[in-house]
Amino acid sequence: MVPSPRIVIIGAGISGLSLAFRLQQRMPDAAITLLERTERPGGTTWTLRENGFLVEAGPNGFLDTKPTTLGLTHDLGLGPQLVQATEAAAKNRYLFFGDRLKQLPDGLTSFLRTDLLSWRGKLSFVWERFRTKRVQTSDESIDAFARRRAGNEAADVFADALVTGIYAGDPKLLSLAACFPRIAELERAYGSVIKGFFAIAKKRRADAKAKGVPYERPGKMWTLGGGLRVLIETLAGQLRQPPTFGVNVRSLVKSGDPKKPLWRVQADGRDRWDADAVVLTCPAHQQSELLAELDAPIAQAVGAIAYNRVAVVALGFRKSDVPTPLDGFGFISPENTRRDLLGVQWCSSIYPERAPNDCVLLRAMCGGWRRPEIVDWDDNRLLEAVRAELKLALGITAAPIFYKIVRWDKAIPQYHLGHLERVAHIDSRLVQHPGLWLAGNAYRGVALNDCTEQAGLVAAKVCDYLHAP
Ligand SMILES: Cc1cc2nc3c(=O)[nH]c(=O)nc-3n(C[C@H](O)[C@H](O)[C@H](O)COP(=O)(O)OP(=O)(O)OC[C@H]3O[C@@H](n4cnc5c(N)ncnc54)[C@H](O)[C@@H]3O)c2cc1C
Repeated sequence: MVPSPRIVIIGAGISGLSLAFRLQQRMPDAAITLLERTERPGGTTWTLRENGFLVEAGPNGFLDTKPTTLGLTHDLGLGPQLVQATEAAAKNRYLFFGDRLKQLPDGLTSFLRTDLLSWRGKLSFVWERFRTKRVQTSDESIDAFARRRAGNEAADVFADALVTGIYAGDPKLLSLAACFPRIAELERAYGSVIKGFFAIAKKRRADAKAKGVPYERPGKMWTLGGGLRVLIETLAGQLRQPPTFGVNVRSLVKSGDPKKPLWRVQADGRDRWDADAVVLTCPAHQQSELLAELDAPIAQAVGAIAYNRVAVVALGFRKSDVPTPLDGFGFISPENTRRDLLGVQWCSSIYPERAPNDCVLLRAMCGGWRRPEIVDWDDNRLLEAVRAELKLALGITAAPIFYKIVRWDKAIPQYHLGHLERVAHIDSRLVQHPGLWLAGNAYRGVALNDCTEQAGLVAAKVCDYLHAP
């Protein structure tokens, strides 16, 4: 009898959990062991529930621009629990620009009316359509791309807001091709991002018409009633072999046939697991430590992937203490007028049931790539900084009736210039280690959708490898 293949996955964040789930679907006979250092699944994806408030400690939702996370929720039977962000949250996003909130345009009319850009800035932005396409293939920063294509004003306002909202990073350091591959592709394929957007929207409309269904603009944000923890707990609960918690994996050792080696995964203490295939989904610095003895150059390349630090400061207020209508997603503070906050999400306006009936829940993001030291501020100093900004932006002077602070020392990987080259280098060396894969948010996208997409792709590769003669 052929023994069941043994697969060990290290790290039970969304990447490790969804990988285990997809592998279990593909290989019902495999023994899949998921090892997690902490005492709970989810990694940065987790929801705290206290005093009637529902606080996301990490991600707040996932978009339907890629089908992978939405598909995963349906496969888990969570379809009926899906909750879409409110229309106001989808439509109204603000910048705390100078000393007041200004709405970000969401269409041509609001773009023409906005005073976030001067007329010169607006002209430069729309002129993107006619600018010639870049011929060099060298990596380009998001900031350089935005200045080249849309002008300095648009780079300072829109590119900065986009980068702050997703990466809490520095647009001058982040690689456009690694962070926003779709935008880079639009320039390559259509010669212009604006042209590309319009061409794709036109095709989607035509497809919808041909199918006889109404056209819906993609980009809606979703979560689950009860928060993203429901996705995590359901995933963990549907694994035939539940994750093993409290296991701090320390090293990997390879032995036997070089083409189909045997892997030994060693954790703190005497715990160890033998495996035919191993996938690391823990953060890059942890992967680097695990790889140090096996392959120093890979370990070095992986360890060089930088992360920012973020403090999430959630605050609950009585509705009656908030003088400004919270009619949208929240606001971002652009770099040139930023004080101590990156931005604030108006959680109870984005999804229902995030706060008791007579209350609202806000979530401020502090720190990021440029102000990492803020994460070390003690709770009082952080709260004071956030309250000072909420007073300026929203006129809130009352004390919060609830707060929760979560600090992430390694929050979001920063795909700096050269990232794609680094990933290609890692991949080229990995072929020397059959049966070993590196996954997680450090390589090919930081969004939940990217993690779940990668999990599906890696599951297919592991399955092919183990089934190959
Ligand atoms: C504040 C914040 C807000 C975000 N907002 C959004 C959002 O709104 N939408 C979105 O799509 N994405 C968002 N993201 C990004 C997204 O949440 C992450 O990219 C994603 O959750 C990463 O999942 P992962 O499984 O790859 O890694 P992680 O969640 O980091 O999981 C890795 C796991 O590995 C474990 N581990 C580490 N070392 C070891 C070891 N040696 N042995 C065993 N286990 C180990 C860790 O304990 C952890 O559980 C946000 C992230 C943060 C921090």
